[in-house]
Amino acid sequence: MSASKPSPKRAILWFRKDLRLADNAALATALDEGFEIIPLYIREPDKDETGPLGAAQAWWLHHSLKALAESLEKKGTRLTLRSGSAASVLHDLIAETKASAVFWNRRYDPPGIAIDKALKAKLSDDGIEVRSFAGQILHEPSKLMTNAGGNFRVYTPFWKALDGAGEPPEPIPAPKALPTLDSWPETEALSDWQMLPTRPNWAKGFESEWQPGEAGAHKRLAAFVKTGLKGYRTRRDFPGEAHVSMLSPHLALGEISPAAVWDATRDLPDDYSTEDYIHFRKELVWRDFSYHLLFHFPELARKNWNAKFDGFPWEHAPEKLKAWQKGQTGYPIVDAGMRQLWQTGFMHNRVRMIVASFLIKDLLIDWREGERWFRDTLVDADPASNAASWQWVAGSGADASPFFRIFNPITQGEKFDPEGVYVRRFVPELKAMPAKFIHRPFDAPLLVLKEAGVSLGKTYPKPIVDHGKARDVAMAAFQGLKVE
Ligand code: FAD
Repeated sequence: MSASKPSPKRAILWFRKDLRLADNAALATALDEGFEIIPLYIREPDKDETGPLGAAQAWWLHHSLKALAESLEKKGTRLTLRSGSAASVLHDLIAETKASAVFWNRRYDPPGIAIDKALKAKLSDDGIEVRSFAGQILHEPSKLMTNAGGNFRVYTPFWKALDGAGEPPEPIPAPKALPTLDSWPETEALSDWQMLPTRPNWAKGFESEWQPGEAGAHKRLAAFVKTGLKGYRTRRDFPGEAHVSMLSPHLALGEISPAAVWDATRDLPDDYSTEDYIHFRKELVWRDFSYHLLFHFPELARKNWNAKFDGFPWEHAPEKLKAWQKGQTGYPIVDAGMRQLWQTGFMHNRVRMIVASFLIKDLLIDWREGERWFRDTLVDADPASNAASWQWVAGSGADASPFFRIFNPITQGEKFDPEGVYVRRFVPELKAMPAKFIHRPFDAPLLVLKEAGVSLGKTYPKPIVDHGKARDVAMAAFQGLKVE
């Protein structure tokens, strides 16, 4: 790259899980300090030891990078895309651009931390200024500590400590313009990264559901605050209603900062109840708690937090696993959840708990199989929240739901989707079932099934296990572990 005017202050701005221009401390500081900026995204192959980027999130990432590149162009600059190890990409780009500094916002997944630490040391040795900033989560896992000076293992004291540490700073506005260079480094083409499905295009249903990118994130937040937040505390568990924010995929890639989400719940008009927005903040802080756990237990996605679960007699049941993945278990709320996941890349939180409990406790399949499937199919797949949540349901995690809390898929459905609105949306073959039997078609009289056009075992599966019996087997297996 050649630059016609001398520019001693040039910085590479390395975007990672912060694909945004607003509330981006690395970007704002580099600009404040007068740097010319070279925006960069690196496709780091197999960075994540827990497996490569899932297919659903790859779809999201493609669109998010496209949106980021367009926003940067509108502000006067360009995004450079490169593939390879971060060390080699940065080494080459520094040589090409004569950049004297690299700015980034910190990431908190263990492989990312290890890469960044080594990079910081190497680049500093080479005389390159390296500056890193907070922003992906609300706290710094190495700094927020219990009174005894250790890390947190229980959510409520964690929440109290985080909340007690004061409100997050107000988000920094996006810059109005960015310095334009005379020429930009060469970039790879986003389409060459092949992050979109081709045949079959399983992501068709994603397109009508989502708008990846920073603008989409802010739109989603504004709509939620306007209509969804009121009633959040009591209605957030009902998957047929619109009382959750669906911000998780935007947060997962940092298109919006958690501080900006928190900020949207400040200074609300009087007709908003405190209970609703505090409860929402508490959920947001579960994300931080998950990162806290991952930071202090980097093997969270691979190993039981509670080692007593290591001896659990998991079943090897590929057919049952497949039925679960495809939403063909014969339990409507489970099938609706798994099909929502496949069709839209998302699943409502209540239903995630139900399907996870079903996999682990009704099918006795290792929670790691579920974690892996979610990682591949969720647009919000997150190394911390996914692993921590699976261990929470399994009972093996920190501050987990006890193993003996086994969700009954029938009563859960009846309680949280009483009219079957959610089930009818994702399991259309049950559309005409009366509400009384929508969650238990196997108990419906033949005439009712006939009138609804349902033939069990043909148009909709019979249950692959008997929940009552499966529950007893799971409890016996658990009692054999002697977990306190
Ligand atoms: P809202 O209710 O609107 O909450 C706002 C934000 O708070 C969410 O966007 C999310 O960032 C955070 N949040 C809410 N609940 C939780 C929670 N229990 N744990 C951590 N953060 C939370 N969340 C992910 O972001 N990625 C995952 O890979 C993931 N895997 C999960 C796997 C299982 C088995 C379970 C039970 C939960 C998982 N969750 C995961 C947590 C939760 O289900 C989602 O964060 C939530 O459903 C996202 O929807 P929302 O944005 O509408 O949430």
